Amino acid sequence: MTAPRVGVLALQGDTREHLAALREAGAETTTVRRVRELEAVDALVIPGGESTTMSHLLREFELLEPLRARLAEGMPAYGSCAGMILLASEILDAGEPGRAAEPLKAIDMTVRRNAFGRQVDSFEADLDFVGIDGPVHAVFIRAPWVERVGPDVEVLSRAGEHIVAVRQGKRFATAFHPEMTGDRRIHRLFVSALADR
Ligand code: GLN
Repeated sequence: MTAPRVGVLALQGDTREHLAALREAGAETTTVRRVRELEAVDALVIPGGESTTMSHLLREFELLEPLRARLAEGMPAYGSCAGMILLASEILDAGEPGRAAEPLKAIDMTVRRNAFGRQVDSFEADLDFVGIDGPVHAVFIRAPWVERVGPDVEVLSRAGEHIVAVRQGKRFATAFHPEMTGDRRIHRLFVSALADR
């Protein structure tokens, strides 16, 4: 099988770490800043960063509607932290009106932005993760959590009682940053899902 071509949204955030992780997981990678780059990829990763800034830049670069359209057609996607927020169908505490994070409605879930951040700014934890053997070391930075999932969404991981990783078909989201730890198992799970029918 030829390697899937995975784009990483490169408007803001930790794009480079995802590119490296995806390459190590067997994908062909490219950055996405323009509509023609978006059109050329099989799947998209939305990195960690700041979801309100990324939303602003998506509007500025005229990528918001084309991205919504590709997601509506079923393009696979993975979002970490800010990326999880953007993939949600509904965002709580999305930010000031006019500068708020935009829900791309790719995964049927309600996400609360900066949810853990109100308690502790950042923390690390070893988590169980469905489909991965052994604990995943998770780094949370001003992280969201998931407050509601739809019937087609599988919960992959929790930190305490809070949902922090989900899957809906070929879409994945984590509230934490596997791209930062050198553990490629989550990126491999995503890349291997792209090959499934
Ligand atoms: N708090 C950030 C946001 O609202 C997410 C933080 C992160 O990606 N590490 O987008």
